Amino acid sequence: MHPNDPLYRVLYIDLTKKIYWIEDRRELFENYLGGAGVAINLLKEECPRGADPLRPENPIVFAVGPFTGLYPIASKTVAMFKSPLTGNLGESHAGGRSAIAIRMAGYGAIVIKGASKHPVYVAVHGDKVFFRDARALWGIKSSITVARIIREKEPGAGQRAIMRIGRAGENLVKYACVVTETYRHFGRLGLGAVFGSKKLKAFVVSGKRSLPVLDKRRYREIYKELFDTMVKSPLMKKYHDLGTAANVIPLNKIGALPTKNLKESKFENADKISGEYLAEKYLGRRLACAHCPVACIHLAALREPYETEPYFYKTTFISYDYELIYSLGSMLGIRNAEDMLKVLDEVEVLGLDGISSGVVLAWATEAYEKGIINENDTLGLRFKWGDYETYIKALRYIVEQPNEFYKALANGVDYAASKYGGEKFALAFGKNEMPGYHTGYLGYFGFLVGSRHSHLDMGGYSIDQKALGKEYNLDELVVKALREEEWRQILSSLVVCFFARGIYKPEIVAKALEPLGWNLTPEDLGKIGAKIHRLKYEFKFREGFDLDSLRLPHRIFETPTPHGYLDEYKFKEMIEKFKLLIQKQI
Ligand code: SF4
Repeated sequence: MHPNDPLYRVLYIDLTKKIYWIEDRRELFENYLGGAGVAINLLKEECPRGADPLRPENPIVFAVGPFTGLYPIASKTVAMFKSPLTGNLGESHAGGRSAIAIRMAGYGAIVIKGASKHPVYVAVHGDKVFFRDARALWGIKSSITVARIIREKEPGAGQRAIMRIGRAGENLVKYACVVTETYRHFGRLGLGAVFGSKKLKAFVVSGKRSLPVLDKRRYREIYKELFDTMVKSPLMKKYHDLGTAANVIPLNKIGALPTKNLKESKFENADKISGEYLAEKYLGRRLACAHCPVACIHLAALREPYETEPYFYKTTFISYDYELIYSLGSMLGIRNAEDMLKVLDEVEVLGLDGISSGVVLAWATEAYEKGIINENDTLGLRFKWGDYETYIKALRYIVEQPNEFYKALANGVDYAASKYGGEKFALAFGKNEMPGYHTGYLGYFGFLVGSRHSHLDMGGYSIDQKALGKEYNLDELVVKALREEEWRQILSSLVVCFFARGIYKPEIVAKALEPLGWNLTPEDLGKIGAKIHRLKYEFKFREGFDLDSLRLPHRIFETPTPHGYLDEYKFKEMIEKFKLLIQKQI
């Protein structure tokens, strides 16, 4: 690492005492690069064993890495915390301006400890930290309005990130998200609820530092090489043109698009909520995270007439991507784009995780259909596939939690099913609601044993698709998936957006680190990745995660995948194999 790189500085903020300080943690960054590698170490240091995720003892760690601000698509921030949803490792990545802002403020990581007695928001401007009274912001209906107010008040326009929660976070919904720059999210595993438990309404960061490099000429050459590869890559063009929404039609075609709570894996109306359709009829803007030439973020412009004013229209910009189209579209049987966009907008306004929200509503719809719950539970709502108005009302109830049923839904689908029944079709893995890939064994295996129960941990859904029509050697694929997750720890530590994972291969990463003052071979990187993965698993086990008591929802065996019907016995074998591999590491 360059001796003058401010990456090694860690900012600690104590919300209880309203104090802050900066520590030199060079050794952590030298051994673990940054991002996820540093964050898991800080989480282990700060989070006591068995901590209640919604008590002050649960810290929030934000971390960036050596590539942040220096190479393209190194645009993400890693957030780490103990998850209120799963009870173990909480990790979520988001872009927007968050990563660049933290780096330019002069930090590699920020640790937020304790809890405030009354609502605050924290503003970090370079070396100064301000604790601002947020009582007037608490309870505002829309997370978007909160950001508008803060934008007026705080300096640093154009360089600052405003991370904030909506009503879902305030009310401790266990899958509440943190929204940053309006259209990006620390979506999964309930960071919003952890913010809410600390009475932390928003976290603002800005800074203007410049970053040193050791060999400027070489740095420029490698930057150009990476940039050119990215802008010429057909995959990046796909993400730019249609975004991840481009995946709707291909996944539907192979029968991997979960539909109506996965009672089906093909949706007859997929073309009406597809990336192509949305781009043709609704696309209003494309956006990029800071320092990214791809701009995969797609915003629909929804134009609605005012009832009493002819020729006047309200235009709302709503971000969409594949995961949201799956969870709040096909999963709920919503047949047209406009209805789906209205549900997406409500999720954004309330500050909920889109994937979890959709899976919870899909379970509630099937539970209602089967008579497991009734109108006494739902406060009169009649859940029905495709009924977007009922879904919007239900989302508001989940956030306000007016009765036991909605309180249960606010705890996630695993909890709701354990209370009301319907476990067989409650689609959570490791207590996290499933992402939109009914692709085969490796996809589900990744949801089950991936360190954050995300499709992004080991990319099993992609391994499944590549294995179509080929021999499916599950033993070999388990090892391959684990190695993939270990390598992704390096990408998460640099911190690179996973969309560029095909470009940031081990050799190019080692080469790109050199002019920044790092001397690591691809083999060294492999070892660091494995070490980080091991630390994450140690944390999970420490907090009670148990590979022997994982729940596999029966529904995944009832609906055919592109690889046919899945066999439960084979999953058990895969988990046994994985256990042996993990035991060797820990
Ligand atoms: S590819 Fe998309 S998500 Fe990734 S950094 Fe670029 S704009 Fe952000």
